[in-house]
Amino acid sequence: MPELPEVETTKRGIAPHITDKSVRGVNVRQSRLRWPVPDDLGALLSGQTLQTVDRRGKYLLLAFSHGVLLIHLGMSGSLRIVPPGAEPRLHDHVDIEFADTALRYHDPRRFGCILWHPGDPFEHPLLANLGPEPLSDAFNPEYLFARSRKRKQPVKQFLMDSKVVVGVGNIYANEALFMAGIKPIRKAGTLTRKNCQLLWEKIQFVLNRSIDQGGTTLRDFVGGDGKPGYFKQQLMVYGRGGEPCTVCHKPLKEIQLGQRTTVYCTLCQR
Ligand SMILES: [Zn+2]
Repeated sequence: MPELPEVETTKRGIAPHITDKSVRGVNVRQSRLRWPVPDDLGALLSGQTLQTVDRRGKYLLLAFSHGVLLIHLGMSGSLRIVPPGAEPRLHDHVDIEFADTALRYHDPRRFGCILWHPGDPFEHPLLANLGPEPLSDAFNPEYLFARSRKRKQPVKQFLMDSKVVVGVGNIYANEALFMAGIKPIRKAGTLTRKNCQLLWEKIQFVLNRSIDQGGTTLRDFVGGDGKPGYFKQQLMVYGRGGEPCTVCHKPLKEIQLGQRTTVYCTLCQR
């Protein structure tokens, strides 16, 4: 599943190819995504110039003078830059065509979405209640400490709550908690200031590391075939249930927490 670093990498990968360019047309081969692609998207975008490509949480925001296109990659979506008129492959559902290039949306499972919003994107219902960006100044150790007071929910679920902070997905929550030595099932309200400082540092580390790794795959966003390879992660706990802890060698424990696979070391994490 594309997580925040992949979406950030996608933003950086596509933006230079389409920013400041005028839309020639839109080709929708399959409109049934998580929500329908607007019928009038071609009429809405044709002749309009794409001003900026931004990201909020896991949403990409393609801004025009009269509104914003919100794109979410869902479970299996990807975007890439192709020559105009390039032969579509299976699951290549939507093209946004410019004079010399096209942005192509591919999504086998169709849990993603492409929506038009004529006003301020931050007032859109999908974005209005999102917490701060994890790599912004608004997300800091003191915020983490204050927000977690009196919270009885497990700290891992607290971190994955998009009202608390956006884009700390399952992989990153597992990894950051391991690096910070904090047990995922611990009540969020029991975090000390020192815990919050360390947890904040490790969240920054795992997200930035992935974004940096993604930078090396940017060229994959351009080309007729293959989809952007979501980067391989150097994972210490995620996907390693039952395998030895990299620090103490005790087998890692795997549980389900809020229906998400959670892996941790019962010795190293407290
Ligand atoms: Zn251990």
